[in-house]
Amino acid sequence: MSFGVGEETERMRLQMREWALADVRPLAREADLSHAPPRRAAEVLAKCPIAISPISMAVDPAGERDGSGNTYLRGLTLMEEVTYGDMWPFTTMPGATIAPKAIKLLATSEQAERWVGGLERGVYRTSAFALTEPGCGSDVSKVATTAVRDGDEWVLNGSKIFCTHGAFAEIVVVFATIDRAAGRGGVRAFMVESGTPGFTVVKANERKLGLHWQDTATLAFDDARIPLDHCLGYTGDDSGDGTQRGVWGALETLTHSRPFVAAAAIGIGQAAIDYAADWVAANRHEYTSKRLSMIEDAIASMNWRLHQARYMVRRVGWLRDAGHTARMETSMAKAYAPPVAEHACLRAMQLMGPEGCSKDHLVEKWHRDIRIFDIWEGTGQIQRLTIARQLLGAGSGTG
Ligand SMILES: Cc1cc2nc3c(=O)[nH]c(=O)nc-3n(C[C@H](O)[C@H](O)[C@H](O)COP(=O)(O)OP(=O)(O)OC[C@H]3O[C@@H](n4cnc5c(N)ncnc54)[C@H](O)[C@@H]3O)c2cc1C
Repeated sequence: MSFGVGEETERMRLQMREWALADVRPLAREADLSHAPPRRAAEVLAKCPIAISPISMAVDPAGERDGSGNTYLRGLTLMEEVTYGDMWPFTTMPGATIAPKAIKLLATSEQAERWVGGLERGVYRTSAFALTEPGCGSDVSKVATTAVRDGDEWVLNGSKIFCTHGAFAEIVVVFATIDRAAGRGGVRAFMVESGTPGFTVVKANERKLGLHWQDTATLAFDDARIPLDHCLGYTGDDSGDGTQRGVWGALETLTHSRPFVAAAAIGIGQAAIDYAADWVAANRHEYTSKRLSMIEDAIASMNWRLHQARYMVRRVGWLRDAGHTARMETSMAKAYAPPVAEHACLRAMQLMGPEGCSKDHLVEKWHRDIRIFDIWEGTGQIQRLTIARQLLGAGSGTG
């Protein structure tokens, strides 16, 4: 394999770095304190060298390849730069959610055209992916939200939590079961439009340790009625193949997004290391040579561990662009990068002493923001379980 990302990608990466530092980072504290995207978010995102989130750049690699054949690798490389300035653009930029991927995987061609047909033309309907419930996250087969057929409609009942963009999305991909006794075989994906009677936003933004600006909503479905063809994959025949793949679609969607989550974590980890290194360099005259030597050792070791994570992520990109699913490599990257980046944020704070905890510096914010990366899109434990099951030949039953 080649370790290079190509000249064009490198040129774009440098442009992204410039944007991240000049435009994104100055708004980081505002995003943290206001519990909403910065007021100038739209203006800053319009200046971003790429028009859409790298997660969506790679939604349809076959359709979006630019001739270099490295859509995934490019997307992962640029994703690091999205978060190098700060985390707020990660979920704020156009095409940042994973819902379009789920729709593309599960929809019939007519449904795909209706719900995400504009994607190729740069037209987005804000969307959300609603899988997690109060009693269901890692184990997708435990979905308790029900969908019961009533004539020409499905009737949805249940609730979803921590749904990113759920409060304002125009369309929400809701995973619900048509037969709880069937476990994962009963799970289907349904398109619910905002304003559907019986669909309400119970809480618009859950209060969290970090990622304050990112809305994660609690949603309720109380006899919410939607047309039959809002079941993704529905072809008019309940026993048809398309509708049977709800859990598969959810897990494939997460397999697609996990490397991007790992890359985003690396961006923040690198930002924390560089921030602390700059601070130490400016204050080195105050340290004894022994303390300076310990700091140098810590910075070097954080940096090489982050580099290891980076190469694991880029390897996934390289394998995907070569046509491999890279399931095991994806789980390894998702299991490895977030804890390494989290450790880098923690050590960066420690190296700065009491200043590291001060709101005058961003490392304390990044230390709070990074915690979620080991949880969402499949926790670290679940990734290790997936790796172990593949090694043991048992297959993975969880997301
Ligand atoms: C900011 C944020 C945004 C989010 N956005 C979305 C979104 O847009 N859509 C959405 O659907 N969800 C979203 N989530 C939810 C997130 O994906 C889940 O929290 C995550 O998948 C874990 O599921 P859970 O919370 O139900 O944890 P659980 O599955 O209850 O797990 C709890 C703990 O038990 C461990 N565990 C569980 N099963 C096993 C096992 N078999 N072996 C070993 N350990 C195990 C887990 O690793 C974890 O540490 C978001 C969460 C946050 C915080």
